[in-house]
Amino acid sequence: MVNQNGVNQLINAIFALLIITVKLLILILLIQLPFASPYFFAVMMAYGVFYLSNYMNALALDLPTDSYTEFLNRFKTSLSSLFQKENIDELSLSRGLPPNVWKEIFNLKPLSVAIPKEFGGRGVKVKECLGLLSAASYESLPLSLTFGINIALFLEPLAKYGNEVIKGDIFKHFLDYGAMGGLMITEPDYGSDALSMRTQNQLIDNEYHVKGTKHWQGLTGLANYWLITSRNANAEGNLGRDVDFFIADTHKPNQNIEVLEYYDNAGLYMIPYGLNKVDVKLPQENKLIPESTGLKLMLDVLHRSRFQFPGMGMGFLKRMMDEATTHCKERIVGTSNLFSLDQVQFQLAKMQSYFTLCSAMCAKSCKVSGIDNDVSGSGVHANSMKALVTDMMQDSAQMLVQLSGGKGYRLSHIGGRGIMDSRPFQIFEGSNEMLYTQISEGILKDMKKKKTENLGEYLAINELTSNASKLYKKEFDFNIGSPISQRKMIDLGKVIARVVTVNDLLELNNDGFSQQLTDNSVEMVRQEIVMLLASLQHHQNISALENLGNSDWMAFA
Ligand SMILES: Cc1cc2nc3c(=O)[nH]c(=O)nc-3n(C[C@H](O)[C@H](O)[C@H](O)COP(=O)(O)OP(=O)(O)OC[C@H]3O[C@@H](n4cnc5c(N)ncnc54)[C@H](O)[C@@H]3O)c2cc1C
Repeated sequence: MVNQNGVNQLINAIFALLIITVKLLILILLIQLPFASPYFFAVMMAYGVFYLSNYMNALALDLPTDSYTEFLNRFKTSLSSLFQKENIDELSLSRGLPPNVWKEIFNLKPLSVAIPKEFGGRGVKVKECLGLLSAASYESLPLSLTFGINIALFLEPLAKYGNEVIKGDIFKHFLDYGAMGGLMITEPDYGSDALSMRTQNQLIDNEYHVKGTKHWQGLTGLANYWLITSRNANAEGNLGRDVDFFIADTHKPNQNIEVLEYYDNAGLYMIPYGLNKVDVKLPQENKLIPESTGLKLMLDVLHRSRFQFPGMGMGFLKRMMDEATTHCKERIVGTSNLFSLDQVQFQLAKMQSYFTLCSAMCAKSCKVSGIDNDVSGSGVHANSMKALVTDMMQDSAQMLVQLSGGKGYRLSHIGGRGIMDSRPFQIFEGSNEMLYTQISEGILKDMKKKKTENLGEYLAINELTSNASKLYKKEFDFNIGSPISQRKMIDLGKVIARVVTVNDLLELNNDGFSQQLTDNSVEMVRQEIVMLLASLQHHQNISALENLGNSDWMAFA
């Protein structure tokens, strides 16, 4: 088998040899040509060749020659020692990161994983992207989200749908100058209902004028590039149903985004958020090129991003688990350590189950979410991963803080911060309630199509759940007739997300992943499924009262 690293080294060796030859040529030209031909011509020739040699030198240096293991190990060690040196617990108390820390991080070229090979990157391999996200989130969830925004919401869409004319320059800025990019979808009046956005575009004199107001964009005021969503306005000013994507380069004239306000986000201090005024004029080549509609492009981009959430979850869940385990072994309460208490064992086993399920998601994501795959139709799978992993992240942080006692309730404690840092993951890129509802809608629709009302029978024939459904045959042997209330849809969505993930876990286990962790996780999930199904079956559709009536307890005391 051809080793990619070996090929790169061979290419570099050829470049190096070429460079030496070219430099020798320069020397000969400089010595010979003043006598043989007009001096001016010789100097120009020599300069041309020298420039070419530098260009080739740069090319040779730009090609990544490290194996992924070398790259990732260097990233992990450098990040860990940088955060130790700078004291990440202290840094996390204030907003942003000092420029020297950003610089040191970007010197490691983390975003090279999401840049195609032909532009000097490592080739946009999902495994490499998730490995980087995970390594970062073990040290800092906000840092991992910063990479996640750049990778899934900017670089991957650009690599897949960007005009070839603009790609080279942008990728170079990311690789060589530490540029960053983000995505603008949400508007103050349109969040969950993003398709009703009012930001509009119009083609006037070969330029797209894009105007509107966006808010809550990760990297507000910091990103060099923005991917901006908008709807086309016709001559009468009516907005089309489709959504168009444009790239703005904030350093170019007429493309800057004005920040109207910075938000006091409750966690993720490292990342600036705020209110953005969009009023830009963009060349036509800055428009992403959809394969069919902009809506399909949007689904492909958002589903791929949701498929890659487990990368950010992985390191974070492992860190919460490691911290909790160490603490519980060391902390003596009464006559023994916390570790020996039954309830503590339950909590730690749960954290291990989360770690296991997230591992399965990562492994599966590598197989299905590459930019060559169209994931616009993979809503059930992508939404299952995003909603479940983010619920597990929040729950893990809550458990670590609980187990740490008062010590955990501090911003300088990774668990204390973890609660607020992981919380918005349940809100952004589709609130989890919305995603669980969509999962159930997808399943119930397909059940209707397949003419079955028995959940167990259906899950046994759906390839996303068929293997796992065998493990929970007894639990799933009941009928569901649609329509059901939304609160029931959400319970059902949570159940489906778990079965889908256990299905992925069985695949990972088949490839050799720990049997004990798998068995424990299967049983942990069984307990969660039983609880969720009980909830689903016992909802009474109680509504919130408009008027609280006779409800002041003081009147009765
Ligand atoms: C930290 C953070 C980072 C963000 N990053 C970005 C970014 O980079 N780019 C960007 O464009 N946007 C970003 N957002 C915006 C985010 O995507 C929106 O906040 C989100 O889509 C929800 O929209 P909203 O805030 O308008 O809430 P609303 O749409 O008003 O929804 C509020 C709540 O109502 C409930 N709800 C809504 N719809 C349903 C439903 N169908 N079923 C059940 N319950 C429902 C949910 O609990 C939801 O959280 C970010 C937000 C946060 C907090």
